Amino acid sequence: MAEPKPNELMEKIVSLCKRRGFIFQSSEIYGGINGFWDYGPLGAELKRNVRELWWRAHTQRREDVVGLDATIIMHPTIWKASGHVDTFSDPMCDCLLTKKRFRADQLEPQSGHAYWYSGATSGPDPETVKAAFARAELANRADIRDRFEKRDWGLLGQELQTQFSESPVKELGRQLLQCCFQAKVSNDAFAVLLPPGKPPESARKTAAEFYRQRGIPNAVLLGERSEPVENSRRFNSEKGEGFGALLTEPRAFNLMFKTYVGPVESEENVAYLRPETAQAIFAQFKNVLDVARQKVPFGICQIGKAFRNEINPRNFTFRSREFEQMEIEFFIRPDEVVQKLAGPVGAYTDGLDVATPQPNWGWELWHRHWVEERVKWYESIGLGRDTLDFHWQPKEELAHYAKACVDIQYKFPFGTQEIEGIAARGDFDLSQHQKFSGKSMEYFDEEAKTKYVPHVIEPSAGVDRLILALICNAYCEDQAPNDKGELESRVVMKFHPRVAPIKVGVFPLLKKKPELVAKAREVRDLLRPHLTVFYDEAGAIGRRYRRQDEAGTPFGVTIDFDTLGEKGPELKDTVTLRDRDTLKQDRIPIRELVPLLLEKIR
Ligand code: ATP
Repeated sequence: MAEPKPNELMEKIVSLCKRRGFIFQSSEIYGGINGFWDYGPLGAELKRNVRELWWRAHTQRREDVVGLDATIIMHPTIWKASGHVDTFSDPMCDCLLTKKRFRADQLEPQSGHAYWYSGATSGPDPETVKAAFARAELANRADIRDRFEKRDWGLLGQELQTQFSESPVKELGRQLLQCCFQAKVSNDAFAVLLPPGKPPESARKTAAEFYRQRGIPNAVLLGERSEPVENSRRFNSEKGEGFGALLTEPRAFNLMFKTYVGPVESEENVAYLRPETAQAIFAQFKNVLDVARQKVPFGICQIGKAFRNEINPRNFTFRSREFEQMEIEFFIRPDEVVQKLAGPVGAYTDGLDVATPQPNWGWELWHRHWVEERVKWYESIGLGRDTLDFHWQPKEELAHYAKACVDIQYKFPFGTQEIEGIAARGDFDLSQHQKFSGKSMEYFDEEAKTKYVPHVIEPSAGVDRLILALICNAYCEDQAPNDKGELESRVVMKFHPRVAPIKVGVFPLLKKKPELVAKAREVRDLLRPHLTVFYDEAGAIGRRYRRQDEAGTPFGVTIDFDTLGEKGPELKDTVTLRDRDTLKQDRIPIRELVPLLLEKIR
């Protein structure tokens, strides 16, 4: 089957998400709200599975990470200390024509010819003037046509008044002059960038629309000049209305949502919806340390909502304004302390085993360890290494306190983009909170007999971006036989069984046979305490399989006449177990179903 183009593919995925109840637009009945998404029945299950698997892998299955569940609104000084109040901003600019807002650093650079205007004055409606000329039989006069084309209404009015004796033409001249005297003026500068080869009329049309929006009808453009432009981000690069229109200068826009705590909306009551979950972990570092019986190196993790007033939410749920993060702050010894205890600090070389922590690990090997751990986890839920990419931030991209940062990226149909960032952040965060709160964040290391502010490695993943990656990764179109054995194309979501929203579909072969239905319900009730089951008795069996293929259900159990023992006692109480991906059907005794399925989904 031909591969769909990336845009087409995303359209199909978005439409399937709505049709099957993975993801809906938030507040859809009111026209939606940009950057906010809801998860329907299948999406909610998928998300729950991802959260649970992450939590289990990083807390229950490790000795050295414990969990936290903190509030969304915290003391506002936290965001002063973290730097978010002063620096958590993106450069934003607006299209002067459409008012659409863009992130200045995400605009496509463009080249062509820019047409600049210093302002405009209003004029008469050219169509009305043209009709008047036609009536006065002046439309073919070259000199008049020329002035008309140039919208030179003042001169034209004067000439009509002085050069013609007939009164209707004189009257037309008088009206044109009056129009000029009463003209509205805008001194707003504007420009339009045209791609090479496009005629200037197109820029003039766009400029006239810009001035019309500012109350200047039938704009007579002033001070037109043009210049070649190369790789500029000053113009709207989005195709459609406004393409090429001048943008405002970039301004810093803080991404935190502000609110007020308490009944008075005053400056001292300002609070923020957290833009990341990490800061609560730093703020609670000492409390957790006191109770968790952990020693550095150890980690604290949290899953929860985060909010960012993104300038330009896009690519479905990829850049949302409300989303969820899964973050770990893993606290480690500073390299000097490692050296004091274990001699030279280990260095990373290609192929070095970083699975098992060693006493001589400094920040670099702990960082590598976490990159590897996270990739292994992605593999365990069906995102193979070949679907991922890694962007190691070069020194000049790193925050001033960071020692290294790698973005784990997924190859989305709309481009390869970050789903998780893993940073070695030194002791920046804890030191900042120590400074702003006045409370010590130091840790006494009994083994090293010294005090220090721990350093941190931070694997920070987004639940929603991961869900989108899993959905894109699972989407597949292939061929499967229908009830008559003929091949039909089908859409199948090939989720890894661990994350699949529904694990098994249970189907009586025929709805009208009470014995089959009773047995199928028995099987459904047997499985339900152990895994998510969808019971379906409506329609042809092939159609029911197809519905579960689209939902990504990895297994289907069908109860047929063999199950009832009608073809001999040896098949009694056996069912067919269908595999969504291989389409293989095996005959399985009912009593073996639970252990077999549990083994496949764990
Ligand atoms: P980007 O550069 O794409 O804005 P970021 O580097 O600011 O992302 P981080 O602050 O490192 O992102 O956040 C960690 C993770 O949180 C990201 O890898 C991503 O999975 C998730 N995340 C961040 N912003 C958003 C968002 N607006 N919508 C959905 N997920 C997000």
